[in-house]
Parts: sequence; structure tokens; C-alpha cells
Amino acid sequence: MSSKLQAVRGMHDILPDQTPLWRNVERILTAELEGSGFSEIRLPIVERTELFRRSIGEVTDIVEKEMYTFQDKSGESLTLRPEGTAGCVRACIEHGLLRAGQLRLWYLGPMFRHERPQKGRYRQFHQLGVEAYGMPGPDIDAELILLNRRWWRRLGVETELELQINSLGTLEERRAYRDDLVAYFTTYRDLLDPDSQRRLHTNPLRILDSKNPEMQGLIEGAPKLLDYLGEDSRAHFRRFTELLETAGVPYRVNPRLVRGLDYYCLTVFEWVTESLGAQGTVCAGGRYDTLVEQLGGRPTPAVGFALGMERLIALLEGSHLARREPPHFYLIRVGAEAERAGVRVAERLRERFPALRLQLHCGGGSFKSQFKKADRSGALYALIIGDEEAARGQVAVKPLRRPGEQQTLTWEELLRFVQSQRLLQGE
Ligand code: ATP
Ligand code: MG
Repeated sequence: MSSKLQAVRGMHDILPDQTPLWRNVERILTAELEGSGFSEIRLPIVERTELFRRSIGEVTDIVEKEMYTFQDKSGESLTLRPEGTAGCVRACIEHGLLRAGQLRLWYLGPMFRHERPQKGRYRQFHQLGVEAYGMPGPDIDAELILLNRRWWRRLGVETELELQINSLGTLEERRAYRDDLVAYFTTYRDLLDPDSQRRLHTNPLRILDSKNPEMQGLIEGAPKLLDYLGEDSRAHFRRFTELLETAGVPYRVNPRLVRGLDYYCLTVFEWVTESLGAQGTVCAGGRYDTLVEQLGGRPTPAVGFALGMERLIALLEGSHLARREPPHFYLIRVGAEAERAGVRVAERLRERFPALRLQLHCGGGSFKSQFKKADRSGALYALIIGDEEAARGQVAVKPLRRPGEQQTLTWEELLRFVQSQRLLQGE
């Protein structure tokens, strides 16, 4: 007996009843991006493993335990991308895109992390990533936040998301902080979980990012990075918060927000919701001024974020955006002549009205069974052609979800009818 074939654990099909919501959300998000001066870049899903080791950092959840890494036939170590920033920076350097000075990019696609699957946490998931290069000031940090807020407003989820912000300062500032942090956690060494003990000397900041509830009290009492920032970093953060206030964006400073990747500096932020349980971060990002140089490019300030599509979609469960647009017309045809006439009518209508949604019945069957399918399709009208109508060059129109009686029309009358129904307005 053969075993049932199933999708890989943590990797999900997005089924036809879910795709309208995905498409509508993607349309709203990307329209806002294009309207704000961001261009799309499409990147490979597979990159050299080296790229992620060098950018994300050796002592991070992702590189330590979450990457899908394999050797290809030539023996090269490759990895399914766990995030998009590294590949985006690689592409920008490789193609000299940063020579122009400033650049605003977005991308959308699947990411892969070998995590324990649970609600809001999958092994294949989708991110919409946004990256802005060549702008060192907090003005662009704030511009990204405002883009986020426009998204939440258009999608109707603004009240469900809280903006949390922090500053990670510079590398030097983090070094001084790191010593005090290590001293603090060393005092409570016995209370640290194994992950945190290991990180105490490799990457102590990451302890602050721990998801272990038993660690939270200890983390709460730790020294705060904001107290270690120098004047420039403070000024950047202050200006950032001023711009948020000017635009009326509420925020909360979360001193424990450190982000799970090594390349961040200065501004970091997360949009967090209470509605999704433990996996509450919907969108997260920050500034990464040293990464471009670290990967071999010219020093280029940068800031970006990634939106977790599955988590946003989960917030929109039951939204009107989940509605599939039904066809305007379902064309029923019974009989050999009617089958041919149906093809002609359908194609001429589709040609004439490119935005018209017309489903042509296929697969034969009686009038009765075809009507049933027409009804199930949600169409506004059935167009009906039997051999009689075919012989006379006519089409019957029966309202299914509009008022009115069935009427029999010539081709010219049908054209006028379609126009008069204003079905295509706004399309
Ligand atoms: P978390 O703290 O939840 O593990 P992260 O810090 O690893 O998140 P990022 O690398 O910053 O997440 O990714 C940005 C966003 O992508 C997250 O805020 C989340 O919305 C989404 N995301 C990350 N990992 C997953 C996953 N395994 N499944 C679904 N969405 C994810
Ligand atoms: Mg993670």
C-alpha cells in the first residue's frame, strides 16, 4: 500500500478560497509601495550559504538552527533564503544599483526557516520586504513607518497594531553596553536557560530577544541599551520620534527590542498585535548601515523591514477582502449548434469588454444541471443559448442576482444590455 502524499510539515498550500484575500491584500500593499516611489526587485530563492552566514550572523536563531542548507550537485553549499535583506544587498552590489546614491526597493515571496511549526510560525512563509538605501537620517525611518500606517489604514487593522521602537546605537556603543549586560546576567547565571547561557559570551544581546517566558523577569531587570547611546545616536532617535509625533503615529519605546539578526543598528521597530497569540509581531525591521560594506559594497546607509504575510492575513480573517469576485455572466449552452454559438458570443463579449467576467459553461449537461452550476458560480446573470436561439442568432438573458425578467436579445441588443448594466464601472 502506498502512503498518502502530503505537503512537507510547516509548508502550506494556499487554497482557492484563500487566494482572493491574498491577492487583494497584495494589491493594496504593492499599490501603496509603487505610489510612494518604491520599485520591485525579484530575487532568487536560493543563495550561497556564505551570504547568510556573513550577513545574519553566526550566533542567531536563523543561522544556528533554522536554515535549509544543502549541497548541490557541484558540492556547493546553498541555502533556501530565510529572509530577503541579504539577497537584496547582494543583488544591489552585484548589479551596481547603489551607484545612483539612493534606492527604494520592495520584494514579495516565500522564505524558509526550519522552526517548530505552530500558529503564525511556519517553515515556508511569505514576507513582503522593503529596503531603502543611501539615506542616513531618521527621515526615511519615519517614512517607512508612515507607509506601514497607510497600509494598516487601508486594510482596516490600524487599531490592532502597536508600534514598538528602540535604538541599538552603534557597534561601539553596543560594546560598552555588552560588558555591563554580561556582568548582569553572570550574576544570575543559574537562572539562565541553556540557550541564554550559551549566548552569554557569544551574543549576550540576543538573550534579551529570548521567547522563554521564564526568562522574562530577569530580562526586565537588565540594563537598558538606550542609556548607553552617545549624542549622535540619541539625536537620531529623538528626531525619529519627533517625526512620528508630527505625523500623529502613537508608539511605545521597548528597551528590550533587539531584533533577531546581527546587522541592525540605530532605529529598530516592530508592529505587534495582541490578536494572534504568541506570534504577535506582524512587521519588523530597522536600520542596517554597515551591512552593505560588510558584504563587499561601498559603505551605504540602509533601512528596511519585513512584513509577515501569513500573520497579516490571519488578522484579516473574515474581512470583506476575502470575497471572491463572482462572474458577471455564466453562459449556458445546450445542443451542438448552441455550443458553437456559445463560443462565438463569449469570445466576442470578452474581446469587446476586457474587464467583463464571463464564465463559459464546459462539460455538457442539461439546462437544469447547467443552471445549477450558473447559480453556484455566483454570477449576476445567466446567458442562455439553446439550438433555437442559436438558429435565430439570439441569446436569452436571465437575471440570477439582479431584478428583472428573462429576455431574449439579438447580438446588438446584448451589447447595449451589457453596457447599460454598468457592470464594468470602476474597473
Ligand atoms: P520571531 O521573533 O517571531 O521569530 P523574527 O524576528 O525571526 O520573528 P524576522 O526575521 O524579523 O522575524 O521576520 C520578519 C517577520 O516575518 C516577522 O515579524 C514575522 O511576521 C514573519 N515571520 C518570521 N518568521 C516566520 C515564520 N517562521 N512563520 C511565519 N512568519 C514568520
Ligand atoms: Mg524567528
